Amino acid sequence: MRKTKIIATLGPATSSPGSIEALLTAGVNIVRINCSHARPDWIRKTVPEVRAIARRLGLPVGVLLDTQGPSIRTGDVAAPIPLAVGDTFVFTTGNEVAEGVKSTSVSYLDFPRDVEVGRTLLVDNGGIAMRIRSKTETRVECEVLTEGAMGSRRHINLPGVRLSLPALTPKDREDVALGLELGVDFVAQSFVRDPADVAALRDLTAAAAHPLQLVAKIEHQFAVDHFEDIAATADAIMVARGDLGIECPYEELPIIQRRIVKHCLQVGRPVIVATQMLESMTENPFPTRAEITDVANAVFEQSDAIMLSGETAAGRYPVECVRVMDRIARRIERSGGANYHEAAEMANAREMLVRSAVMLADQLKAAALVVFTRDGRIARDAAWLRPRVSPIFVFSARENLLGALCLLRGVCPIAMPACEDDPAGSVDGAIGRLRALGRVRSGDRVVVVLPHRSSDDNEVEAVKMLVIQ
Ligand code: PEP
Repeated sequence: MRKTKIIATLGPATSSPGSIEALLTAGVNIVRINCSHARPDWIRKTVPEVRAIARRLGLPVGVLLDTQGPSIRTGDVAAPIPLAVGDTFVFTTGNEVAEGVKSTSVSYLDFPRDVEVGRTLLVDNGGIAMRIRSKTETRVECEVLTEGAMGSRRHINLPGVRLSLPALTPKDREDVALGLELGVDFVAQSFVRDPADVAALRDLTAAAAHPLQLVAKIEHQFAVDHFEDIAATADAIMVARGDLGIECPYEELPIIQRRIVKHCLQVGRPVIVATQMLESMTENPFPTRAEITDVANAVFEQSDAIMLSGETAAGRYPVECVRVMDRIARRIERSGGANYHEAAEMANAREMLVRSAVMLADQLKAAALVVFTRDGRIARDAAWLRPRVSPIFVFSARENLLGALCLLRGVCPIAMPACEDDPAGSVDGAIGRLRALGRVRSGDRVVVVLPHRSSDDNEVEAVKMLVIQ
């Protein structure tokens, strides 16, 4: 069983039920819907489709809704606009139309107010650089510094500028409301600047009927500066290297990634490494050597998940990308890891007991670490402590919790009706399920973690070792 989870973004290349099925079969654990591109009617159609396909295949699959956040995008253009060095390019807001010059609209009305004449702005992942020459209240005129083509809905970065946009834009609020209606498992928050931004999303999603995990995307310097406090507020962290690599000096990127992964493993926050992991496979069937090493590095650091963006959303080889990640992850997991979790800071008796269970499973080379969970916390503790050998089989009576558990490294979530009423009495049934799935056999040793009968996952009642008869 692969421990590192794979997240794949759906898009035009993977919209059909057949492509979704192919991705899930190849090993995708979480599908990502990117609200910067996906339209509400498409999201409304696609999320139930993913759920239905996953159910038919008998695979636990999480759904992650990634918000656009307080970011600036260009408007739609009929065809990409070619740009040469020295060209004048105009960005307009509101109803302003620039005649006789290359131009596009931007989504953000205060764009002219936030930019500074003389500074550089970057478009489309830094692919196009422009110097701001002049501005009025409704237009920003630039000189093109690098050639390229201006497509539709391209992201604009203004490194070092704190936009006056709120943490959650009206579009984010609408997208999140749709996500809650559809029962997504994760909402990823883009361009988080500080913990207050995460708190705003927490307030907005407080009434969610479906168990929901909030993922804070670390994608600019403001977030890096407040990273520890953001990690304390969010349920999970994404190292969103696309924007991070533009907003921060790019040579800092590997250092920031390592610092974030290390901290997450110290405090027990699931962590995702994202963006350009297999970028060349958007066009080619094989990864570059550098990409193989990049994926391997994230697996070696023992991040919970690695993510595919444009590679699966719009690339020519989406399923091959998943296979490549799967193959690299399996191999690197066998070769050991950075073990940053050894510096884990335990805060309570539950975490300490789960650690003793993980240590026992490591010592015994147990075939399985079996965890019963009511709200996911014991499962998260077990995954955090990164068992060396044993896969973590998490049994829960709450079928709608399984998607959220799909992010956790090494965790295989399994639905088991009524097991929360009597976890101890459900052990035989759980072992029977694992035997039927071919996960354990006679003579195997298994370590079991049981939550306290009368509390949620607050307390562990017992840690047991069993030998399968
Ligand atoms: C990123 O910037 O790395 C990222 C994941 O965000 P998005 O794809 O929304 O730009």
